Amino acid sequence: MRYISTRGGGSPKTFEQVVLTGLAPDGGLYVPNEIPHFSATAIAGWQGLSYQELAFEVMQPYAGDCIPEESLRALIDRAYSNFRHASIAPLVQTGSNEWVLELFHGPTLAFKDFALQFLGHLLDYSLAKRDQKAVIMGATSGDTGSAAIEGCRRSKHVEMFILHPHQRVSDVQRLQMTTVLAGNVHNIALKGNFDDCQNMVKACFSDQSFLPENRQLVAVNSINWARIMAQIVYYFWAALQLGGPQRKVSFAVPTGNFGDIFAGYLAAKMGLPIEQLVIATNQNDILHRCISANDHRTLPLVQSLAPSMDIMISSNFERLLFDAYGRDGAQIAALMGAAKRGHMQLSEAALQEVRQLFSSHRCDDTKMLKIIDQVYTESGYLMDPHTAIGLDAARNRRANGVTPMITLATAHPAKFPDAIKRAGYVGEPELPVHMANLFERPERFDVLDNDRAAVESFISQRVVT
Ligand SMILES: *Cc1c(COP(=O)(O)O)cnc(C)c1O
Repeated sequence: MRYISTRGGGSPKTFEQVVLTGLAPDGGLYVPNEIPHFSATAIAGWQGLSYQELAFEVMQPYAGDCIPEESLRALIDRAYSNFRHASIAPLVQTGSNEWVLELFHGPTLAFKDFALQFLGHLLDYSLAKRDQKAVIMGATSGDTGSAAIEGCRRSKHVEMFILHPHQRVSDVQRLQMTTVLAGNVHNIALKGNFDDCQNMVKACFSDQSFLPENRQLVAVNSINWARIMAQIVYYFWAALQLGGPQRKVSFAVPTGNFGDIFAGYLAAKMGLPIEQLVIATNQNDILHRCISANDHRTLPLVQSLAPSMDIMISSNFERLLFDAYGRDGAQIAALMGAAKRGHMQLSEAALQEVRQLFSSHRCDDTKMLKIIDQVYTESGYLMDPHTAIGLDAARNRRANGVTPMITLATAHPAKFPDAIKRAGYVGEPELPVHMANLFERPERFDVLDNDRAAVESFISQRVVT
């Protein structure tokens, strides 16, 4: 298996090469040069596998000859060993033929653990094999940072620098990052907003001369292919629990950077019978406007109660458009130029192609709070704000009552206590036991100005050579 850039430049790369970097040099994202396909019979043969066994079957073709089978199995076993539910990703019923797939039983209580626990072990394995060290640099508006830190804190081969906007993440989110006191973990509170953090990371990736020799930056956001790959697994997992592949299923996915739902698209391409993929957005609804009305204009970002979906340009959408435009890198490069200038319009053919599988829905804060309350009243089930937006999309967009509709529950409600209380929940949604004393733990982080020289010198002084 080889990987190519969505913008058509450069030569094909191996799995390990693309995992150990960020964007392709031409600014594109890496995608496999072909998507592996499984027959319904092959997929039916996976019924009854454990989550880890299934993960091996789904991911092995993507890793290909880069990772021997027994090593891949060991990496997967380690990645999911500290999830707190025996099923790893349990399904809960919330209505007639309506299900929620709980993806928050990992160490940081959000679905990002599925990919980042795996990526941490994978990086350690690949770097050890090459006798290399790497520097992880990432920007976070909350969930990515803590999941990446949890995934890589034990790695002997990586040094991590995670930037969050100073005083603009929730207390739980900050503490989940800053109370990890491992020597290779460095939290930077940047005086700026999330965009400033992201622009800083981009600038550092574009010129890495501030790093010592033989070091390179590795991205841990969802442009990293390994993250997408690990997320494909739970689509197969959920479908197999509900009668797939003989029976079709549909998914509604709370969407920000389009990484999670893009994994669902790949599952469909790999042969899993999926009827619908519903993109759920909050007030930052550019994807909903694009799918429903071919309106991909960039508008100012609004702060919502579902902050992990407060994103204007969704990076992974480019990976979908690459397929919708017949894998024509030159067209994608032009299209992304237009998106960057603030207005991208899809061709009618590409839009029709995307709409075969995808539909979209927008749910604002007011509606989101209502649905948390409604579902809690109906069934005693408490959802986090992101999941609630997904469920609202599921209920509004499902094509029929026959096909099971599965909403991805992307975070534990206790991560967002303010929203839960505003929805009318009496009391405090409880943090799981392993995090109960979070507020008493010592913290460590550095506050830096939004200044590239300051950030670069902070990093270069701390990278152990
Ligand atoms: C990251 C995140 C999302 C958005 O996922 P994408 O892959 O960026 O679309 C949704 N909900 C929660 C809780 C998240 O942490």
